[in-house]
Amino acid sequence: MEKFARPGDFCPNEACADYGKLQTDQQRNLQKYGKTRKGVQRYRCKTCGKTFTETFGTIFYGKRTPEHEILETLALLAEGNRISALSRVTGHKEDTILQWSREAAQHAEQIEAVLMAEFKVKRGQLDALWTYVRNKGGKKLPRNG
Ligand SMILES: [Zn+2]
Repeated sequence: MEKFARPGDFCPNEACADYGKLQTDQQRNLQKYGKTRKGVQRYRCKTCGKTFTETFGTIFYGKRTPEHEILETLALLAEGNRISALSRVTGHKEDTILQWSREAAQHAEQIEAVLMAEFKVKRGQLDALWTYVRNKGGKKLPRNG
């Protein structure tokens, strides 16, 4: 059963000691930390010092697959790998990978920031990824050199 977590309920940093711990009166590692240009609430974790927006971290929360693995698969997809090939390599069903990419597309702003910063995915590759997702995976992604 998937948990329902509200924005800012937990630290989404997997390396953090308080990763995924929901905020309670005893557990208070998150503090509000201004807003983004688009007015999205930003939070800072006192434990690890990382900042994140309220929407990021809730995207893949509660999934059986670790968030990093999902993001890595999305990065490989953006780099032009076929879903069928990724399915063989990662062991996840093609439908599952497609579902992740659809969910990611709904939070494109947050996902893009992470994919570019941590996986060195290029802007053009991300644009191609979202186009691909909008076409429901019907077409093959163009390869980017
Ligand atoms: Zn943290």
